Amino acid sequence: MSDTLQTIKCPACNKEMIKVFVPEEGINIDICLNGCGGIFFDNREFKKFDEKAENIDEILKAIEGKTFALVDESLPRTCPVCGSKMVKNYSSANRTIQIDECYSCGGKFLDNGELQKIREEFETEAERSQATMRELYDTVGVKLREMDEQRAEAYSKRPPVSRLFQALIYGGRPHF
Ligand SMILES: [Zn+2]
Ligand SMILES: [Zn+2]
Repeated sequence: MSDTLQTIKCPACNKEMIKVFVPEEGINIDICLNGCGGIFFDNREFKKFDEKAENIDEILKAIEGKTFALVDESLPRTCPVCGSKMVKNYSSANRTIQIDECYSCGGKFLDNGELQKIREEFETEAERSQATMRELYDTVGVKLREMDEQRAEAYSKRPPVSRLFQALIYGGRPHF
């Protein structure tokens, strides 16, 4: 879904969000300037601002000097664009910052200050994907080791070869 021109209500505090134009990208970002300071990004917009080297001057200018209402970040949220239930996910493999994502339209909602924290997490996109790969490797690696252990255990439960041999010689099924 592309940039929405309709006014949307903040999924955290229900105040009308304000459109902040980012000329460099030619897009509007919705910021809850009169409420909690949360930011809503349409599908793919977030990728243009999540790295340290990317320019967020327009966003910083808009929120500068403002005091924002505190909100309960753990509450479930509804996507202000399409009305779907948003899902809380960690922004990266570091598992420090949770953001709300809409799986239907791809929108993302960040609470006040989260964008700045996310940008500080990694120097480059390469570092970010490296962390993701490391985490994947850790998870898959543990799973594989578990499978190995289970298999080893299964093998150890097999009847000893000697008994099988006995059954072969004396006939019938081996009883254990
Ligand atoms: Zn808000
Ligand atoms: Zn949505």
